[in-house]
Amino acid sequence: MTHSTPPMLYRRLGRSGLQLSLFSLGSWVTFHNQVDAHGVREMMAAARDAGVNFFDNAEVYANGQSEALMGEALAQLRWNRLDYVVSSKFFWGLDRGSADQPRINGRDTLNRKYLLQAVDGSLKRMKLDCIDLIYCHRADPHTPVDETVWAMHNLIEQGKALYWGTSEWTADDIRAAWDVAERHHLHKPVMEQPQYHLFHRKRVEHEYARLYEDTGLGLTTWSPLASGLLTGKYRQGVPAGSRGAMEGVSFLREGLLDARKNTAVGELEAVAKELGCSVAQLVLAWVAHNPRVSSVILGASKLAQLHENLGALAVLPNITAEVLSRMDTVTAGLAQ
Ligand code: NDP
Repeated sequence: MTHSTPPMLYRRLGRSGLQLSLFSLGSWVTFHNQVDAHGVREMMAAARDAGVNFFDNAEVYANGQSEALMGEALAQLRWNRLDYVVSSKFFWGLDRGSADQPRINGRDTLNRKYLLQAVDGSLKRMKLDCIDLIYCHRADPHTPVDETVWAMHNLIEQGKALYWGTSEWTADDIRAAWDVAERHHLHKPVMEQPQYHLFHRKRVEHEYARLYEDTGLGLTTWSPLASGLLTGKYRQGVPAGSRGAMEGVSFLREGLLDARKNTAVGELEAVAKELGCSVAQLVLAWVAHNPRVSSVILGASKLAQLHENLGALAVLPNITAEVLSRMDTVTAGLAQ
C-alpha cells in the first residue's frame, strides 16, 4: 500500500452480517495464465496488507488451476480463517467430456448432482473445509429453480458453504429463487455478481432496483475496468502482453478496441488529471461510489496494477455530484 492510500473500507454483503472489503481481488484470466504460484501469493499478500478480505474464484477459471493456486497460496500464507472470505462459482463444469461423449450432467447446468459434486472438487483444490460464498455462475433454464435452491441450501446445511448467490441472473430469476427459499424457509440467495462499470450499468442501476430493498440483495461486481478498456491502454491499439493480446480471450478484443469508447476514455483522462489520479482509479472510485455495491472485484496481472487500483480508495471522496455528471456526459449513449 502506498503511504497516501487511506485505510480499506468495509461494507455489508447486502442485508447479511458479513462484511467485505470495498475492493477485493479476483483471479479470472490472471491466475495460472498470467500470474504463477509465487505471483499469486505475493499479490494476495499485498491485497491482504491493504485490508482486502475477499478473494474471488470460480471452478471454471483456468479449468480448476486458479482454485488450486489460490488454495496453495492460502495454505502458505496461513491467515486466520476468520480474516478472509473466499468464493467459487459453478455452472460450466470441468473437463466437459468429448464431442461424442459430452458430460451431460456436469456442464452448463445447476442440477443437484453437478452442484453437490462440483463443490467437493473446489474444496479439495482450495484445501478448505468451507467456501464462504458460492455462486450459481449463470442461470440454467433447464433445471427447475426449486432443485437449484434446495441444492444450495443443502450445501450450506452441510457446512460446505456459508452464503449463496447468483451471477448474471435476471431480476426475475433472482426473485424466483428468493421466493422458493422464502416459501420453504431455506437459505436465501444473498448476493449477485454482475458486470458493472461505466459502460455496463443498466442492470445494476435499473433492473435490480427493487431487489435491494425487497430481498436485501448485495453485489460483488466484476470487470470494473471493462477488462482494461477503462485504463486507456487500448486507445492506440492492443499493447503487447495485455489481455487484449491473449488468444484465450480473443472474444474480448473487438470490444476493447471500440473507437467511441476509447475516445470517451480519453475524455475521462482529463477528468482524472484534474483530480490528480489515474483514469483507472477514477473509474474504480465511480463503481465503489454506488452504495449498492458491496465489493468491487479487482483484476490485476501485475502487482503494480493492484497497488494503483487500490489507490482508488483515496479518490472516493472526490466523486462529487459534479464529477458524476461529467462522467455521465462523457459516456452518454455508450452504456448498456
Ligand atoms: P478488470 O475489468 O478490472 O480487468 C482487469 C485487467 O485489466 C487486468 O488483469 C489487467 O489486464 C488490466 N489492468 C488492471 N489494472 C490495470 C491498470 N491499473 N493499468 C493497466 N491495466 C490494468 O477486471 P476483471 O475483468 O479481471 O474482473 C475482475 C474479477 O471479477 C475477475 O478476476 C473475477 O474474479 C470476476 N469476474 C466474474 C465474472 C462472472 O461472470 N461472475 C466474469 C468476469 C470476471 P492486462 O494487464 O492483462 O491487460
